[in-house]
Amino acid sequence: MKVKTSDIAITAVMPSQYPADDLPEIAMIGRSNVGKSSTINTILNRKNLARVSANPGKTRTINFYIINKEFYLVDLPGYGYAKVARSDRAAWGKMIETYLSTRNALQEVLLLVDIRHTPSEDDVLMYNWLRQYGYGSIVIATKSDKISKNQQQKSMKVIRETLGMPTNAQIVPISSLKKLGIDKLWGALESLFIE
Ligand code: GDP
Repeated sequence: MKVKTSDIAITAVMPSQYPADDLPEIAMIGRSNVGKSSTINTILNRKNLARVSANPGKTRTINFYIINKEFYLVDLPGYGYAKVARSDRAAWGKMIETYLSTRNALQEVLLLVDIRHTPSEDDVLMYNWLRQYGYGSIVIATKSDKISKNQQQKSMKVIRETLGMPTNAQIVPISSLKKLGIDKLWGALESLFIE
């Protein structure tokens, strides 16, 4: 897909603030610091649209980016940041659950995991949650530049097994730093719209 335009359209915390125009939505979620903001900036070919945060765990809103005036890329706030208060964690859970369970325009939710690490308990819980809502057909393995091709293959096997991904779900390794895997990710995203 050629990204002609991309802009932040809406920052929401509750359903009344979600976009009202019924365009399809593709969301991304993952642990704080997994590389979600970098991934969004890279696939949109923007430097600073999504903030690459020095304060992990600070973004507690759902950010809707409008792409080519055709669909929304939805940036869901990250989880797993130890210093977040319990009450904030509960608010985060409610916000995400409300979005996932009520949003008709939502086509797919992509989980991001760090290619170097075995998915955490939180990642597994999140993936199971996504599967329950019918999502989880694409997992992004970030920071692929940090390990060799050979290690990437091994890591992807561990990620697939740990998350319990079905065979028809795919893992796409990407590096925002080296701009690797971006076309493959776009190919996977486009196939969501064609199906
Ligand atoms: P977020 O909290 O998930 O939005 O993660 P960020 O995009 O803010 O990235 C967290 C950290 O990982 C930052 O220091 C980034 O520079 C780094 N990072 C993100 N993507 C990559 C990548 O592809 N390769 C490498 N080596 N570092 C990355």
